[in-house]
Amino acid sequence: MLVIFFSPKAYDLQKDIAGYKMLVKSFRIPNKKTLFALGSVAVLAIAGICAGLGTSADAKAANGQPTNDLVIVLDAGHGGMDGGGTTADGVPEKGINLNILLNLRDLLRVAGYQVEVTRDIDTSIHDKGIEGIANQKSSDMDNRLALFNKYDNAICISIHQNLFTDPKYSGAQMFYSDQVEGSQELAKILQETFVENIQPENTREIKLSGKELFLCYFSENPTVMVECGFLSNPDEAAKLQTEEYQKEIAFSIFSAINEYSSL
Ligand SMILES: [Zn+2]
Repeated sequence: MLVIFFSPKAYDLQKDIAGYKMLVKSFRIPNKKTLFALGSVAVLAIAGICAGLGTSADAKAANGQPTNDLVIVLDAGHGGMDGGGTTADGVPEKGINLNILLNLRDLLRVAGYQVEVTRDIDTSIHDKGIEGIANQKSSDMDNRLALFNKYDNAICISIHQNLFTDPKYSGAQMFYSDQVEGSQELAKILQETFVENIQPENTREIKLSGKELFLCYFSENPTVMVECGFLSNPDEAAKLQTEEYQKEIAFSIFSAINEYSSL
C-alpha cells in the first residue's frame, strides 16, 4: 500500500512559484478578475524571490500592500487516525486533502491573503487528554469549527474527496449550507471555476446540505465543502494523487476565492 506523508517543512515555495507560473501559462483565462489575480501573484512572487523573502507577510511589506482583514480559513479533511475515504488501492483521502491545502495556502499567501489552516501535517486536532476515537473525532471537529468562526470576516474552504459505490462517477462538487449568506454564491463560483479550468465535462450542480455537514452548517462565515473528485473512480483517483493535478485543483480554488472576494 502506498503511504503518503506530506511534510510542510519539505515544501519548497520558490520551486512552487515557478510551478505555478508554468501552470498559469497552460490555463485559459476566464475573466479579467482572474487575469488580475495572476498578475498580482506574478508580481508578488517575483518580488518575494528577488528580496530573498520566505513569507507572504514580508512579500506584502516589500510591495507596500495593505493587509486586508479578510481571512481565508482552509481545512484539510480528516487527518491522523481518521484517513477519510480511500482509493481501491487503499490510499487515504487525508493526504490528498492536505497536499491540495498546502498548495492553496502558499498560493493565497503569495497573493497577499491572510490564511489560517486547521492542520498542516497529518494529524487530528483534538484537545490533548481526550480519550476514545469518537470523543477525539468530536473534539477535532469542534476545534475545526472554532477556527472557522474565529474571525468576523472569513471565507472557509473544507477540502475533501468523494466516494461512491459505482466507480463510474467522477468530477468535483461543491456542498454548502443556507445558514450563512454568501455560501451559495461561493459554491457556485467554485463549481464554475473547476469546470472552466480543469473539468470541462463536469455537469454537476452545487448541493445544499443540512446539519450532516457539520462545518458547513454551523460555520458563521461563507463556507464551502469542496469535494474535488471521486476516489472510487480509478482514473480520477490516479489523477488526484499526482502533484500536477493537486496544483491545478489548488489553483482553481484560488481563482474562485479571488473572484468571490472581489465581488
Ligand atoms: Zn472527506
